[in-house]
Amino acid sequence: MTNKELADLIYPNITKTPEDYEKIYPERNLKEGAVVSRFAPSPTGFVHMGSLLTTLIERKIPDETDGVFYLRIEDTDQKRSVENGIQGIVNDLKNFDIKIDEGVIGENEQIGNYGPYIQSQRKEIYECYAKSLIERGLAYPCFCTPEEIEETRKIQELNKERIGYYGSFAKCRNMSNEERAERIKNGEHYIIRLKSPGDYEKKVVFNDLVRGKIIFPENDLDVVLIKSDGLPIYHFAHAIDDHLMRTTHVLRGEEWVSSVPVHIQLFDILGFKLPQYAHLGLVMKIDEETGAKRKLSKRKDKEAAVSYYHNMGIPVEAVKLYLMTIGNSNFEEWLNQNPNASLNDFKFNFKKMSASGSLFDLEKLVNISRNYISRLSKEEVYDKEIAWAKEFDPDFAALLEKHKEYALEMFNIERCQKKPRKDYANFKEIKSYTWYMFDELFTGDISYEFQTINDVEEIKKILKLYLDKYYNENDDEQTWFERLKDLSMELGYAREVKEYKENSDKYKGHVGDISMVLRVAMTSKAMTPNLYQIMKLFGKERVIKRLNLVIDK
Ligand code: GLU
Repeated sequence: MTNKELADLIYPNITKTPEDYEKIYPERNLKEGAVVSRFAPSPTGFVHMGSLLTTLIERKIPDETDGVFYLRIEDTDQKRSVENGIQGIVNDLKNFDIKIDEGVIGENEQIGNYGPYIQSQRKEIYECYAKSLIERGLAYPCFCTPEEIEETRKIQELNKERIGYYGSFAKCRNMSNEERAERIKNGEHYIIRLKSPGDYEKKVVFNDLVRGKIIFPENDLDVVLIKSDGLPIYHFAHAIDDHLMRTTHVLRGEEWVSSVPVHIQLFDILGFKLPQYAHLGLVMKIDEETGAKRKLSKRKDKEAAVSYYHNMGIPVEAVKLYLMTIGNSNFEEWLNQNPNASLNDFKFNFKKMSASGSLFDLEKLVNISRNYISRLSKEEVYDKEIAWAKEFDPDFAALLEKHKEYALEMFNIERCQKKPRKDYANFKEIKSYTWYMFDELFTGDISYEFQTINDVEEIKKILKLYLDKYYNENDDEQTWFERLKDLSMELGYAREVKEYKENSDKYKGHVGDISMVLRVAMTSKAMTPNLYQIMKLFGKERVIKRLNLVIDK
């Protein structure tokens, strides 16, 4: 029985040939040097921070070279798929403004000429190549049961031999086609394996964009190509998909480095040009309990899922800036020199990537976010806050929309200055810093954080005298403060803190204590931005109302 007859027996319905697919998916018509890259996750429903860094680069290099970035869903391993797992990934990318040129854009939607971009929909294509390899004597059906494979592994372990299906351990490798055909006709379960032409004694060399030159022994394992469910294993799908989708650069986790010899062999026997590989180090963190370095984990770390940042309202740009600081070692310095530049202006360099992985530091990210928000204009803060609140706190969004001008001025307090105020680390917490500015929220049982001066009668006396004699809504800041000093003096408090410190027995306190009373009466909080600016924002009516609220209590 010929190989061709065996191949026809296994895949009777496959009529296309590899040459047909070459025509269906021709070389892309891109300019020289254009990079085609892809993000190829399993449909797990979410993007991990480590993958977000990868996609950022996968998006960036096509941007720098007029290339293409596409999203392919690798769903051949049912264990790694969850319901609506594609939509979660699409949403995460959308929320991070990572645009997809081609591929999967929704649970049931794809764009581009190189699809389908979901592996389970490409079964026929994989079968065509499997059939062709069987015809060429480079693949064969294997009938070994999982128990037999396990048995072999135990023997190999016991004899301290290399683990795997190769050489004399590859029981089905040299079976006659007649026996293969008979067992298939008898309904035995089988998988398709590569008949590896490799020699373990020989070396393969390849150049990793991050790691440089790597030397491995050639692959001689008869790896699985097609599983018993008819779907391909990663190695086979990788070779076929990345070839037919005309990928030029494969960026993926370092866990795949050791598989490169298999991939080189597959690309070679399939007649495909090998893409460039960049194996990226893991994103790690210091474990809070043990203090040891470990992989940033979806299970243990809330900050591992990119949805965390979206939900918290940490600006996309800040997350990206942070990720690039761990992506390229020279980025932070570049950013310090170009504080107002955008990520697009930075030229990415694989050589500046850490091969050993990078440490994820949430605190640093939060700091970048704080700085980033402090440099935004009041309009930008307003728009971004509304966008966040519309999704997560619609009542607050409505309030901000109702009082747009007021809210804009509120966000402007201590903003346009050399060292802008850095209260906000994210959009979620803005309400907790600003709620008291809105009469609608400043109601009910308000707890006032009065400080040094906390005697009710004294507080009332201060506020009354202030309203009667010292409040003038048209004062500039300096005059306003002079009047607070005058008020202090009239009530037996020192005009200056220094003066009080030197003669503390002569005074009841100082001007700082007085202004604290005003601040707390006005806002209920002991910590607020500039009080003068808050009072300006409030306007006369609200100032009087707020102070009377305390006086009348
Ligand atoms: N689906 C593979 C993974 O999630 C993709 C690896 C690759 O990018 O080739 O690890």
